[in-house]
Amino acid sequence: MSDIKSIGILTSGGDAPGMNAAIRAVTRAAIFSGFKVYGIYRGYRGLIADEIEEFSTQNVSNIIQRGGTILKTARCKEFQTAEGRQCAYDVLRRHGIDALVVIGGDGSLTGARIFGNEFSFPIVGLPGTIDNDLYGTDSTIGYDTALNTIMECVDKIRDTATSHERLFFIEVMGRDAGFLALNGAIASGAEAAIIPEISTQVDQLADLIKSGFRKSKNSSIVLVAESPITGGAIGLSERVKNEYPDYDVRVTILGHLQRGGSPTAFDRIIASRMGAAAVDALLDDQRNVMIGIKNDEIVYVPFTKAIKNEKPINHDLLATLRRLSI
Ligand code: ADP
Repeated sequence: MSDIKSIGILTSGGDAPGMNAAIRAVTRAAIFSGFKVYGIYRGYRGLIADEIEEFSTQNVSNIIQRGGTILKTARCKEFQTAEGRQCAYDVLRRHGIDALVVIGGDGSLTGARIFGNEFSFPIVGLPGTIDNDLYGTDSTIGYDTALNTIMECVDKIRDTATSHERLFFIEVMGRDAGFLALNGAIASGAEAAIIPEISTQVDQLADLIKSGFRKSKNSSIVLVAESPITGGAIGLSERVKNEYPDYDVRVTILGHLQRGGSPTAFDRIIASRMGAAAVDALLDDQRNVMIGIKNDEIVYVPFTKAIKNEKPINHDLLATLRRLSI
């Protein structure tokens, strides 16, 4: 049994729909178990600047349905320095905060791992990112909502693409991960997805053109993961203009649209389960772990595994997309 008495919560890095549901779950589950709870605003930046408020259950009322994060989020260079982290530790001590729940992506959890080791400070992470690029969990908080947003946008673009008989490259987020592009393509009935995971192995654009993808159709939609590795939608459209000038090509970049909106039921449910599990993990003396859900079961994933292991793309999905786009 742990001797933790008060827990701080922060959201960090890129925001994701469902973060509020996670904040609510951690707050309520912690208060239910007798902990004091502190909301830390603006991620590690706000921690260093002492932007901290004690939370009651009312602080998290009426937020489960809201996108973004009521705690705000930020990026913080100072936390990447030993001095910055020492300052953060001093602030936590001053407030008597014994443990942290960090909700964020791989950068935020990398910072959490370093800080937790440096000060032997108990930290539990929650995977909050639309990219779904954290290893050890089937889904991250925000991914399902972003996927649904992409699907709705592509449905709309298809109407105009069909009318004009064009090739559309639609760029979606995902940094180094093609989960949004690949599953977004399957969900919206797109012709192909160009993803970083296989960009180094094959020339996906050349393959696409070679496959004669336009023969049986009068328009084509290709989802592209934003990444220097894929070249992004703009890079690919330049290539088409130079190498395949017969094609009438257009680009849409979905951008920050993908981060917004009310979280889906799926994201609210996993955020709620993971938030409650974070409190259980602290009660259970777990440290430096991310909460994941694998095959519908809560799992503890060591930070080192969650961050370092590249989450593999399911090649069956690629094959399915190819078969269904003939
Ligand atoms: P995300 O969590 O969405 O991946 P970032 O990669 O921007 O977002 O990381 C968010 C924050 O996490 C950074 O601004 C920084 O404060 C912290 N962070 C990231 N990497 C490190 C690191 N190597 N050491 C310490 N802190 C880090």
